[in-house]
Amino acid sequence: MNTSSNAELRNARVRDKNRVFMRIAWELSALSTCDRKYVGAVIIRDGRCISWGFNGAPPGMLHCDQNNHGWYDAPYHDDKKLSCRNATHAEANSLAFAARQGISTDKGILYVTVSPCDVCARLLIAAGISKVFYDEEYRLPAGRELLVKGGVEVTQIGV
Ligand SMILES: [Zn+2]
Ligand SMILES: [Zn+2]
Repeated sequence: MNTSSNAELRNARVRDKNRVFMRIAWELSALSTCDRKYVGAVIIRDGRCISWGFNGAPPGMLHCDQNNHGWYDAPYHDDKKLSCRNATHAEANSLAFAARQGISTDKGILYVTVSPCDVCARLLIAAGISKVFYDEEYRLPAGRELLVKGGVEVTQIGV
C-alpha cells in the first residue's frame, strides 16, 4: 500500500462520524468529578449533539473528593467498597439535562466512553435511545446485555 492511500485511510477514520462523536465523549470525560471512573457521554439526534454529560455530583452538591463518594452521607450503605453513592453517571446526566430542557431523546444515539451499567441501561431504554456506541468495556456486562434485550443496538467502537 502506498503512502497516499495510507493517508486516505487514516483520514477516513478521522472523519468517520461515529468516531468523531466518540472523541467528543472522551473529551467530555475530562470533566468528570468522580475519580473512581472518568466517563463522558453525548446524545445525538439527526446528526447533531442534543445533550451530553459526565460522571459527577448533582448540580450544586458536594463533589466526590469532598464527601468521599457520598459514603459518609449514606451510613445505611454498609459495603463502602461497592460503588460511588454520590456521582450521577454520564448517561443519566445527559438524559436528565435533556429532560430539564424539554429536549426529546426518543430515537437518539448515545456515544459513551464506557459501556453503561444496568441502572443507566434501564434509563436509556425508557428514554427511547435507539443505539449505543461505547469504547471501553465496563467491568459488569449486565447493562450492555440489558440494552440488547431492550431492543437497543449496541456497538463497540474505538476512536
Ligand atoms: Zn464518586
Ligand atoms: Zn450507569
